[in-house]
Amino acid sequence: MDNPSLLVDLHRSQYRQGPGGDAETLLAITLSGLSSKSTLVVADIGCGTGASSLVLAKELSAKVIAIDLFSEFLGELEQRANAAGVSDRIETRAASMNDHLFEDGALDAIWSEGAIYNIGFENGIRAWGRFLKPDGVLAVTELTWLTGHRPRELTEHWDAEYPEVDTASAKLRLLEAHGYSPIGYFPLPKHCWLENYYRPLQNGFDAFVARHEGSDAARSVVVAERKEIALYERYSDFVGYGFYVARKVGD
Ligand code: SAH
Repeated sequence: MDNPSLLVDLHRSQYRQGPGGDAETLLAITLSGLSSKSTLVVADIGCGTGASSLVLAKELSAKVIAIDLFSEFLGELEQRANAAGVSDRIETRAASMNDHLFEDGALDAIWSEGAIYNIGFENGIRAWGRFLKPDGVLAVTELTWLTGHRPRELTEHWDAEYPEVDTASAKLRLLEAHGYSPIGYFPLPKHCWLENYYRPLQNGFDAFVARHEGSDAARSVVVAERKEIALYERYSDFVGYGFYVARKVGD
């Protein structure tokens, strides 16, 4: 994040800090096969205020370890977990996804929605694999080209912002190359971006700028967000988040 404290302030009151949806988290859980198992240990890495952590805690017989760099987000998550009656199943941990977070083979599943890009998809799937038990599940969302060919403006924007953006077939190949067996892929529907993420974010822009007394820094955060939103609205047929569910191949 370029300006962490401003971005935390903009995003902390939101239900999600990235595109996603409860139904899509549930679909990934179904694909993963985890529902049939009990006493699982699951990490939600880059959990933000915990949209997916809450679904995991409600749906699975699991302890969910919710990890984020920012304790402000984790504080919101704890309040939501209390309100939802699942606080005994969620443990929060302020840490970087770059850290040595777990012992080898400690986890039944790693969840990460809209967050692995912070360390890059390939780096993340490579680094996190050791934390999983053999046959453990990896479920991540990642910026994905939805088509083989795209408008140039779009390609240039994301190649500059996130050079790892690629097609689903390329991401699946990376999973295979790094010791995973893909179980499922689906693109997040557009409402996961527009209704669930961008619209609530936009609704908070004016109050955010006012809180920061119209500072140039706050305004430039909003300008950058608006640019990204406009680009998505224009090109949502070509780019989105892919949900990737994979199983770690046993040693
Ligand atoms: N999973 C949440 C949040 C996605 S936004 C959701 O879907 O709503 C990305 C999250 O990654 C943010 O909460 C941000 O604070 C967190 N993050 C960024 N860099 C991180 C790092 N190095 N380690 C851990 N979390 C990080």
